[in-house]
Amino acid sequence: MSDANRPVLPAEAEIDLAAIRGNVASLRALAPSAEVMAVVKADAYGHGLVPSAQAARAGGATWLGVAQLAEGLRLRASGDTGRLLSWLHVPGDDFTAAVAADIDLSANAPWALDEIAAAARSTGRTARVHLKIDTGLSRGGATADEWTELVDHALRLQAEGVLDLVGIWSHLAWADDPRHPTTDRQAAAFEAALAVAHDRGARPQVRHLANSAAALTRPDLHYDLVRPGLAVYGLSPVPDVGPPADFGLRPAMTLRARLSLVKRVPAGSGVAYGHTYVTERDTTLALVPLGYGDGIPRAAGNVGPLQVAGRRHVIAGRVSMDQVVVDLDDRPDVAELAAGDPVVVFGAGCDGEPTAQDWAEAIDTICYEIVTRIGSRVPRTYVGGAV
Ligand SMILES: *Cc1c(COP(=O)(O)O)cnc(C)c1O
Repeated sequence: MSDANRPVLPAEAEIDLAAIRGNVASLRALAPSAEVMAVVKADAYGHGLVPSAQAARAGGATWLGVAQLAEGLRLRASGDTGRLLSWLHVPGDDFTAAVAADIDLSANAPWALDEIAAAARSTGRTARVHLKIDTGLSRGGATADEWTELVDHALRLQAEGVLDLVGIWSHLAWADDPRHPTTDRQAAAFEAALAVAHDRGARPQVRHLANSAAALTRPDLHYDLVRPGLAVYGLSPVPDVGPPADFGLRPAMTLRARLSLVKRVPAGSGVAYGHTYVTERDTTLALVPLGYGDGIPRAAGNVGPLQVAGRRHVIAGRVSMDQVVVDLDDRPDVAELAAGDPVVVFGAGCDGEPTAQDWAEAIDTICYEIVTRIGSRVPRTYVGGAV
């Protein structure tokens, strides 16, 4: 560990800020014609909002992206002054604070434009707005039918001087399969929306469509700005295409713990709630102080991988709220193992430890969910540079 003086923690998520900086630099090199917006929503996918954002900026992210205004306001309170876009709003959101804090705002619908305009009038500032078109995800964004009217609405407010229509953007549904025809259909719909906006008189500074997967695999869709999230944290959004290293990415999070107990039990011992695991022979069990209260998925019972003192094991029995059990079975060095020994739940995978992708495959989810769900009880510790 990096700092011999720091207190021993039962568990920690160690975040390598050098990895985040390097990942953003790799993304810049992969998308040389575009700027990079590092998406830091959801506490930077569990990595810690402010330190991760600072590392992304240091790696060359000229933009940051958040889902919720509160996340953007926290970044401003931390001293961040660069371009920053927030996109998921509800009526009554504090757009006045957002405009005052110089946060770019996405609008899907007329109500959002009207609330942003009111905030701009009350602050005496010009709001910067990105209009979102739904090109086929059927989630956020105006439909093609609503688009012309939304653009005209924004241009009327722009003529009044209360807002600048600086961006037009959309989001992909199926970019994790780079050649999926849905992506090409969405790209065509995006082009059509850009053409309509141009005809109505819009001259946006940035057009943006690409998430991590498209940033890595679809250079034709980079436009002026790419919006990677997962790749910033060094994980691959296209595990079938390649692991992170293939794209110059390094996983930033290592989830570590220390064994809190090691003990011998006889054959036939039922382990953890409901005894879904029963020891087949006399064996040694170890207790790891992480459970579903910390974001270890409960679905990982009897399938989640762990590395205990250098060797791979699988969780024995159900995941409890605060802890899981590992059967150290017949490993040759079992007599030397003791409470305090190191556990790596997942990490970069360079020393034989499982990766977040291994966890995703073990419980049939995506690695996004594995890292993002690590709970607030697990302290984030930072290595690899100034925080
Ligand atoms: C989360 C998100 C991203 C980043 O997606 P990744 O797959 O993590 O790169 C980009 N754009 C929008 C709108 C998002 O919600």
